[in-house]
Amino acid sequence: MTIAKPKSSTQSPKKSNPVERRKTPARRNLYTRAEIEEIFRRFSVQRPEPKGELEHVNPFTLVVAVALSAQATDAGVNKATRALFKVADTPEKMVALGEEKLVDYIKTIGLFRNKARNVIALSQKLIADFDGQVPRTREELITLPGVGRKTANVVMSMAFGIPTLAVDTHIFRIANRLRLAPGKTPDEVEDKLFRIIPEKYRFHAHHWLILHGRYCCKARKPECERCVIADICKSPEKTCDIPAPLVELPPQIIGG
Ligand code: SF4
Repeated sequence: MTIAKPKSSTQSPKKSNPVERRKTPARRNLYTRAEIEEIFRRFSVQRPEPKGELEHVNPFTLVVAVALSAQATDAGVNKATRALFKVADTPEKMVALGEEKLVDYIKTIGLFRNKARNVIALSQKLIADFDGQVPRTREELITLPGVGRKTANVVMSMAFGIPTLAVDTHIFRIANRLRLAPGKTPDEVEDKLFRIIPEKYRFHAHHWLILHGRYCCKARKPECERCVIADICKSPEKTCDIPAPLVELPPQIIGG
């Protein structure tokens, strides 16, 4: 990922051609730095240690769980993987289990046939090319069948503690709805978010945004009266300007 550094200078190009300028507009974010800092400060008070909700027991099972979670809910994936990971928590055991038996475990998840094929193929590749270990870099991770940039980002962050922003449906919606980091593609949103989120908040930002989207700024109807950033939010969809009390949420609410 290209991580653009924050601008260190406000100098504008001298006598630049107006047509050229339009091609690469120096768009200002709708939010000030102080507002963005405050948004993430409040999220950090609400959920000091946000956690992902996909159950896994090691980096390999995390890769599998994330690969299975495309177009499925975390709860649905967890239901299927609880039993699966008891019998297959390494690439070797997954290959030994085989595609047909794997299908039996995951057939409640959408696109299960395709996903089963990918899980067996990625297990085989891990054994053949990575000594059975999950690699740590994005470049290596995306060589695994069924693993795209989003899955790689989740694995890097959750398994190895490397700050990344995997833009899922919630993050994509929030970035655009709030006009915080508007973009037409997940990559565009990822790049913009990564640039504006203060470094100290980057590691947890992914989960804060997902959980905010899942439990408060919901897809169909945002619950603005329960929102701790309602006074800062610049979404045309918001229905309330008064922020909800800023308190740490009990752990059970984090898990939903
Ligand atoms: S005020 Fe409403 S629209 Fe804005 S972030 Fe909160 S829930 Fe979402």
